[in-house]
Amino acid sequence: MIETDIIIIGAGPVGLFTIFEAGLLKLKCHLIDSLPQPGGQCSEIYPKKPIYDIPGFPSILAGELITNLEEQAAPFKPGYTLGEAAVDIEKLEDESFIVTTNKGTKHHAPIVMIAGGLGVFEPRKPPIENLESYEDHGVEYIIKDPEFYRGKRCVIAGGGDSALDWAIFLTENKIATEVSLVHRRSSFRGHLDSVQKVMDLADTGKINLITEAEVVGVGGDGKIENVTVKHKADGEKIVETDHFIPLFGLKPSLGPIANWGLEIEKNAIKVDTLDYSTNIPGIYAIGDVNTYTNKLKLILCGFHEGTLAVQSAFARIHPEKKNVLKYTTVNGVQGF
Ligand SMILES: Cc1cc2nc3c(=O)[nH]c(=O)nc-3n(C[C@H](O)[C@H](O)[C@H](O)COP(=O)(O)OP(=O)(O)OC[C@H]3O[C@@H](n4cnc5c(N)ncnc54)[C@H](O)[C@@H]3O)c2cc1C
Repeated sequence: MIETDIIIIGAGPVGLFTIFEAGLLKLKCHLIDSLPQPGGQCSEIYPKKPIYDIPGFPSILAGELITNLEEQAAPFKPGYTLGEAAVDIEKLEDESFIVTTNKGTKHHAPIVMIAGGLGVFEPRKPPIENLESYEDHGVEYIIKDPEFYRGKRCVIAGGGDSALDWAIFLTENKIATEVSLVHRRSSFRGHLDSVQKVMDLADTGKINLITEAEVVGVGGDGKIENVTVKHKADGEKIVETDHFIPLFGLKPSLGPIANWGLEIEKNAIKVDTLDYSTNIPGIYAIGDVNTYTNKLKLILCGFHEGTLAVQSAFARIHPEKKNVLKYTTVNGVQGF
């Protein structure tokens, strides 16, 4: 059981900044995110885009903002459960909560802050019979650690940046022994540089590039041993492999949180703007995931919401203590 003061569901920019604000009040945070890395939409959707409306930064790349937020939060030693989705919540008699992930990891705290943004990014899965029975037995939709594929044969499917970049990475770094890239069309959606690199690697026989084709079947005894590739012109062919990695992007959904008894309006959690608390005492919702009159889905609004929510959380955890606002210019940042 992971013990902390505040469980933050969602390690997007809002969750990350909330660690800092909670830390100033000597409250420890543990973050859960279904993605393998922190940063939410900034890391997953637009890391290389400049943002122009972060106060004090005339322009900052979304990815850089996340690096800075992680650095700012580091003195407060946050814990992370990454690559796991929070699926279940239980309220105990003492009003504290246990949040459990889809992998069974349990977290216990008196406060839960939902900073889940647009929701869990779920992989778009190709409609292949029995595919789900091979999940974690050779079928993966996200590459968390490339080393996992060392010495293995991999079939990657997809035509976007993720499919191209991982095919290149696993090949150029000599991690996988064999990389096949299967794509429905002959043209790719990814960056031109990456497309060119894949073409070059295919020309030298380092990547087995199969275009105008789809993976239509998976086979193997308990784990993936082969996939069936259907080519537009040439028909079906079996490709022996250790891993099948469909990389067709991610789609967000509020997921199981929608069934936690929270008041939901238009796929977002209703909050009281006094302190961004929800209808369940002890649970707050901050950032893109919440809704109230005049809500703006902006990073700076989420920062403000997290800041006020931790003040309220402090009062809940320490009803006997009076919290006096202290400037960081006066007190500095005293980590744990
Ligand atoms: C292309 C684009 C450009 C943008 N430009 C700007 C801009 O210029 N300025 C601006 O202010 N905003 C901009 N935004 C909006 C901004 O990115 C969002 O307001 C911000 O990301 C919200 O932060 P968040 O932390 O609330 O949520 P998110 O960034 O969405 O992060 C939420 C995290 O929660 C995780 N999560 C959700 N549910 C669960 C669960 N059950 N278990 C585990 N993890 C979970 C998700 O995986 C995700 O990582 C832009 C958005 C996009 C898409």
